Amino acid sequence: MAQISFQNVSKTYAGGKSAALTDLNLTIKDGEFMVLVGPSGCGKTTALRMIAGLEEITGGTLKINDTVANDLAPRDRDIAMVFQSYALYPHLTVGENIAFGLKVRGAKSEDVATKVRETAALLELTEFLERKPARLSGGQRQRVAMGRALVRSPNAFLMDEPLSNLDARLRGQMRAEISRLQRMRAVTTVYVTHDQVEAMTMGHRVAVMNKGTLQQLDSPRRLYDSPVNMFVASFIGSPPINFMEAILVAHEGGPALRIGPFLLPLPASADRLSPRIGGKVIAGIRPEAFKVTDGPAGPGTLSAKVLFVEDLGADLLLHLDSGEISMGHADMTEDDRDVMKSSPKLKASIDGSHRVSRDETVNFTIDPNAILVFDADTGVTL
Ligand code: ATP
Repeated sequence: MAQISFQNVSKTYAGGKSAALTDLNLTIKDGEFMVLVGPSGCGKTTALRMIAGLEEITGGTLKINDTVANDLAPRDRDIAMVFQSYALYPHLTVGENIAFGLKVRGAKSEDVATKVRETAALLELTEFLERKPARLSGGQRQRVAMGRALVRSPNAFLMDEPLSNLDARLRGQMRAEISRLQRMRAVTTVYVTHDQVEAMTMGHRVAVMNKGTLQQLDSPRRLYDSPVNMFVASFIGSPPINFMEAILVAHEGGPALRIGPFLLPLPASADRLSPRIGGKVIAGIRPEAFKVTDGPAGPGTLSAKVLFVEDLGADLLLHLDSGEISMGHADMTEDDRDVMKSSPKLKASIDGSHRVSRDETVNFTIDPNAILVFDADTGVTL
């Protein structure tokens, strides 16, 4: 078992324009399921490969338990890694591929056979045990690669987008299976993905990264409820949060938001924002915070014309004309502001039992506790 800790770890690739990782401080506890998530190029694979010993560390210290591991050879780390590109031995059958890691470590052949059978059953690979990789689909190969790691009991599992080639059904099933197995065996696991659904459903804690820096390390629930900035708020949650330009105003003795023609009161905890009354901020409201109301428009409600309805069965995703509301997004530049003006859409996710049609104007109430407020210049949560 292992605790893995990054202490001020940086990485600049030879010839790389900017740092792939900057001052990463992150401790993965023994037995923890840690997810590294972020957009393409944010440095998550680099961090994972450093743990495996496949990437040189250009600054800082990586520790595995209490040992400095910066220069430890990969084979001395006893870590099992599942890559995005599943490197299988083409001349070996599925069963032999899964058994390989156990055999080279000298496991007894009855034990190997039992473990291979159990792992294959878990991954729905039993009927393919005698096949060679060339005669498997991409998803089946990916499951064999996963099997090769899961069959062992290493210090830690490292997984780099291991479900990317599976169809939606298998992906959902494997998400649950990997989480269950991890809980059962309590092996430290570091899982890299750009898929926030995987991050939210699998991670005990999730490290959200952007451009080589750690943005927030927290439980999935806290990332959703209390993101530290607009980047995290927009990356976590699907469909993504709506950002709107707003002015902080005084309303019935406390701060409220003026968003275009609408007035949205804030909860009592927003008193901390009183010194900023009169200033510009960005409001963040998740699509699921919009509740359809038959009541009159007034403080706490927002109305908008429906441009398009996506019927997802359980929910309806409404694309709304934002009208006089100026929309925004994380990392917004002046050019982006112009683009947002030409495609101003608000999104609301409502219960599928509602009947809503195109061109209808709908009134929504917004729960004051569901409103996030960000600094308009820095994007940091206020
Ligand atoms: P993805 O989800 O696309 O795999 P990632 O978040 O895993 O992305 P990394 O692969 O860690 O990102 O890459 C981080 C940065 O380092 C990127 O800007 C990438 O272009 C750069 N990079 C990665 N590998 C190399 C390399 N071998 N040489 C130079 N630059 C590299």
